[in-house]
Amino acid sequence: MAGSSRDTLLDNSSPVHQDRSLISLIIPVFNEEKSIRIFLEQAAKALEPLRDDLDVEYLFVNDGSRDATERTILSCRDEWPEVALVNLSRNFGKEAALSAGLNHARGEAAIPIDVDLQDPPSVIVEMVASWRDGAKVVNARRARRDTDTWAKRTSAGLFYRLFNTLAEYPIPSGVGDFRLLDREVVDAICAMGERSRFNKAIFSWVGFETTEVEYERPARAEGETQWSYWKLWKLALDGIFAASTTPLRIWTYVGLTMAFGSLMYSLFLFVRTLVFGVDTPGYASTAILILTFGGMNMFALGIIGEYVGRIYTEVRQRPLYIVRSYYKQDIDEEAAHGS
Ligand code: UDP
Ligand code: MG
Repeated sequence: MAGSSRDTLLDNSSPVHQDRSLISLIIPVFNEEKSIRIFLEQAAKALEPLRDDLDVEYLFVNDGSRDATERTILSCRDEWPEVALVNLSRNFGKEAALSAGLNHARGEAAIPIDVDLQDPPSVIVEMVASWRDGAKVVNARRARRDTDTWAKRTSAGLFYRLFNTLAEYPIPSGVGDFRLLDREVVDAICAMGERSRFNKAIFSWVGFETTEVEYERPARAEGETQWSYWKLWKLALDGIFAASTTPLRIWTYVGLTMAFGSLMYSLFLFVRTLVFGVDTPGYASTAILILTFGGMNMFALGIIGEYVGRIYTEVRQRPLYIVRSYYKQDIDEEAAHGS
């Protein structure tokens, strides 16, 4: 069973709690007033079979919602005392909200999960089983993506291909943020100091013993996605530039190749002028050379800019998010769990 070493350590000191463990569901929410109650009902139902030896913390991270999300969550605490809430001071984006969740999670395992039921809570039962068998990370892999649009599937597919070609450590395709992370893994992730966060890559970078469960991804239950293509594009760039310096170093080779090509061309021009004399001034070739090199230079500068921009964000050392308020679980700590 997971955490067994801890259990044996605690054997004498807290015999009452030795078999119960606490898992935290981390639920980032941004303007999701309609989804919260449905989510809690479904999740509670799905987790019923685990409740004999498992406590759950529903940790909502309110990512600066402007609707009644906060009020709805707080009102749900009457019915579900396991609900905890971290309010961020504004919308920081899902990646930052997830970090806030990981930092506040009190469970022995944490599971980031979307509130729109696209990550079906019933999968958690299987995840917990693998975790108890000793896995430190349990990824949930989408069997198919047919609930996504064609454009989203294609762009996601391209992104994974590109990312995995460039990055030193691959991220499994079809695995989102929905996964189970053991406390050890959560602590390792929280200890990483970087500001530009691409969680999927961070999750796979930390390593640990990983298994997988498969599931079918349903369509969104309520409301609509908050991710525009522009946001996804920015996330993809963050992912690639955070995981790889290949785009930066590639210019050494592009530069070398271009320099070699130019040298050959210069030799050719030189010899031709010697042999055939000066012919009509080459407007076309000059224009092409200027345009090509100008374009390449701008592009290379842009790539360097991407990294410089990120270095700037890193050195400023601003916090990833700001917490406005934190409501812990409303249940008797001692009775519920010995932490
Ligand atoms: N979300 C968030 N901050 C944001 C955007 C989204 O916390 O700025 C949350 C959102 O409430 C949901 C989860 O992230 O619980 C996934 O968002 P969504 O369903 O819109 O993304 P998709 O499923 O389309 O990838
Ligand atoms: Mg969704």
